[in-house]
Amino acid sequence: MWSEQGELRWTTSSDTEHLGSLTARFAPYIAQARAGHSQSVTFDRDGQQLEVYFTALHAPDGNPAGVASVILNIAEHRQLDAAEHQEIENTLRHRLAFQDIITRLSTQFASVLATQVDEALQAALGVLGSFTQVDRVYIFRFSADGMAMDNTHEWCAEGIEPQIDNLQGLTLESMPWLSARLRHREIVNAADIFELPDEAATEKEVLAAQDIQSVLLIPLIDESSVVGFIGFDSVRRAKSWPEEDIVLLRIAGEIFVRAIQRALAERDKRQLEAQLVQARSMESLARLAGGVAHDFNNLLAIILNYAKILERELSEPDHRTMVRELFATAKRAADLTRQLLLMGRRDVVTPVVLNLNEVIQSLDHLLHQMVGERIELQCVLARDLAPTKVGIPQIEQVIVNLAINARDAMPQGGVLTIATSNETIDQAYALRYIDVNQGEYVRLQVSDTGVGMTPEVASRAFEPFFSTKGDAGTGLGLSTVHGIVKQAGGHIELNSQLGRGTTMDIYLPVASATLESQQAPLHPEEDAAQSTSYRGNGELILVVEDAAPLRRLVCRMLEKAGYQVVEAISPDDAIVLVEQHGVRADLLLTDVIMPQMSGPDLAQRLMSQGLAHVLYMSGYEAAMVALRGVLQDDQHLLQKPFLEEELLRAVKRALTDAPERSSTSPNTTH
Ligand code: ADP
Ligand code: MG
Repeated sequence: MWSEQGELRWTTSSDTEHLGSLTARFAPYIAQARAGHSQSVTFDRDGQQLEVYFTALHAPDGNPAGVASVILNIAEHRQLDAAEHQEIENTLRHRLAFQDIITRLSTQFASVLATQVDEALQAALGVLGSFTQVDRVYIFRFSADGMAMDNTHEWCAEGIEPQIDNLQGLTLESMPWLSARLRHREIVNAADIFELPDEAATEKEVLAAQDIQSVLLIPLIDESSVVGFIGFDSVRRAKSWPEEDIVLLRIAGEIFVRAIQRALAERDKRQLEAQLVQARSMESLARLAGGVAHDFNNLLAIILNYAKILERELSEPDHRTMVRELFATAKRAADLTRQLLLMGRRDVVTPVVLNLNEVIQSLDHLLHQMVGERIELQCVLARDLAPTKVGIPQIEQVIVNLAINARDAMPQGGVLTIATSNETIDQAYALRYIDVNQGEYVRLQVSDTGVGMTPEVASRAFEPFFSTKGDAGTGLGLSTVHGIVKQAGGHIELNSQLGRGTTMDIYLPVASATLESQQAPLHPEEDAAQSTSYRGNGELILVVEDAAPLRRLVCRMLEKAGYQVVEAISPDDAIVLVEQHGVRADLLLTDVIMPQMSGPDLAQRLMSQGLAHVLYMSGYEAAMVALRGVLQDDQHLLQKPFLEEELLRAVKRALTDAPERSSTSPNTTH
């Protein structure tokens, strides 16, 4: 055997004498063999006729890894009997065939797809097992922390009992001797397991329990560490391994490790890619849904507002009831679209620093009512829960949606647990997800003991409109939860087992600000909006809005509240009214995004004509956000859609505000 040290040794013959001095002499033949041309040389040593065969040995990458040589004593050779002759020939043949197998495995694994590595490994174990005539061949892989191991692949000869199911999650600690050998990259080669040292008592016991007579374990070595091992058991008869076979099996081990590591790397990459694709498709679906919801919501606002006006004006009780029903239904539709908007993140949310426990406690009554009597509601709230920053209606929506799903999953009753805790997301965890940062989080855990989900359902659960509930489901519950949590910079983990139940872990980043300084009241007193207090005194309001139904509605509401109104269907129209017809409005109420000119530009122009107050109305978050930056506060912004009292309150506030603050000029911001 031509070893890596460049030393020629006997390896098959019982004579292990070194042939170091001959190395130089054989160099040309070795070089030829290395280049793929097998060589045969006869020479004379101390009157003995010797014949040497040289043949190339290939490494996994296909390059020659060394040269195998067989040295025959021709004089002895000639005296060999037929049986001995046969044996030598068999050995040679075995070695060449084995080498051939390894070369083939090397080529095959070099091109195997990551998804087919498992299959290929399985097949390879079979090939090695049948060829070496053992009873069982297997691969164990160590866990990432190196503390445990799993039997991942197994091949058994016919009539041999598979063991793979019994060999999962073993701790390395339970077999200290063996673990130490493998960790030191040593091969364990026991032709008779009872000859293992005394320290290997446990190992002996385990092997004996499986009727194993001989065992060979070869560590699987990745660049830096031992990641597992390949094992060969002989059950029916003892087996001692020739050195060259072990060398070849080591090469097989290297081939396997490389394939396994590549498959793992590719799997991680694929998972990240899948997450990215899903995140993107969620985004675009959400945007689409949000777009529809936005327009729909404006229509609903008009229906709602007219219903309110009608209800007040009708005297017939029957009619009033019907209109009230109309209002209630439109309100439900608006709630539904609110969910869509949230999902599309078009809703303007005002996050506040809050203690999640308080939100859960405030919902306690509602949750009990929602889940009914068959379901036991348990709240396990962490003491000293860190504050988090999120919109209150949004986080309430999250809790309610999750609780509703839990209820639906437990028609026969069960336990719904809502728990909070402080958690740290470490780097290892964060790296597994594309959009999770490491750091401190508040965890909201909602778990049920319900029907659970199949992996297919679980993988689609967050998709907008995905529902397994037929007409009873909207498929918006979880996608809304997803939108809210993402908007708050959080992360969701779903764990579900069919028939066992589901756990949703919501991670929200810990807010850095202190609680007291920013905390808003949990349920701000709904401004008991007596429309009367927002009535006008004949002030003139110039309304600029291109959507006719909304414009008419707004004008009507303003007139009824005691204002005078002038309508403009566009900025140009408004400019004509002011500059040519001398309209002197006290307040400009304008849309923000309009075809010819933006609301702020219009305001700027009219201010030079003496206009003092402006109120913008918009349904676009982007517009609101952009304006908020310029205006410093929300005083002059009205989020569409709005109800009558919200409009009147905003108008009143804008009118009573100091005129110079209505300026949109950027240099007024400090
Ligand atoms: P909906 O509840 O309207 O069907 P969701 O978005 O809330 O829509 O949920 C989507 C789907 O996810 C449900 O139809 C159901 O199949 C599954 N699901 C959600 N939560 C649970 C849960 N706690 N247990 C079992 N399945 C659930
Ligand atoms: Mg739901």
